[in-house]
Amino acid sequence: TYIVTDNCIACKYTDCVEVCPVDCFYEGENMLVIHPDECIDCGVCEPECPAEAIKPDTESGLDEWLELNRKFSTIW
Ligand code: SF4
Repeated sequence: TYIVTDNCIACKYTDCVEVCPVDCFYEGENMLVIHPDECIDCGVCEPECPAEAIKPDTESGLDEWLELNRKFSTIW
């Protein structure tokens, strides 16, 4: 899965939302989040993010962000 991280906070761009083929972006408290179970790992959103906030979960040190993405994408 891909994960939205801190660079997204207060970001108003939605380029990522527009390109996601499965619509797995959700509104978090002050940033967008990706639903980890709905993301199909296509990677299309990563280069579209002007804030470089989207990262693959294969990157280290993102466990907390993954949990935050899961939390805020599943409360709806
Ligand atoms: Fe959507 Fe693909 Fe980005 Fe996952 S990697 S959030 S499926 S655009």
